[in-house]
Amino acid sequence: MMTTFSSKDIALLENSVAATIEDGCKECGFRYIVFTTNVSQEPDGTKVFFLQVECPKCNVEYTDIMAMRNKNDE
Ligand SMILES: [Zn+2]
Repeated sequence: MMTTFSSKDIALLENSVAATIEDGCKECGFRYIVFTTNVSQEPDGTKVFFLQVECPKCNVEYTDIMAMRNKNDE
């Protein structure tokens, strides 16, 4: 199934990323974490936005779920 993005999805993603990385690494608070964003789509159409983080300082890796959005939220 193709995941398509509305402008609301993009706005949510941008805001969520900004809020999530603002505090830096969850473990050590290092500000310059390396991250990639990912989106998965559940069978019911819910989009799950998550962030995969790698901290170059303490070497922790974790996945943070930033937001979820249902197609009914359009
Ligand atoms: Zn860290």
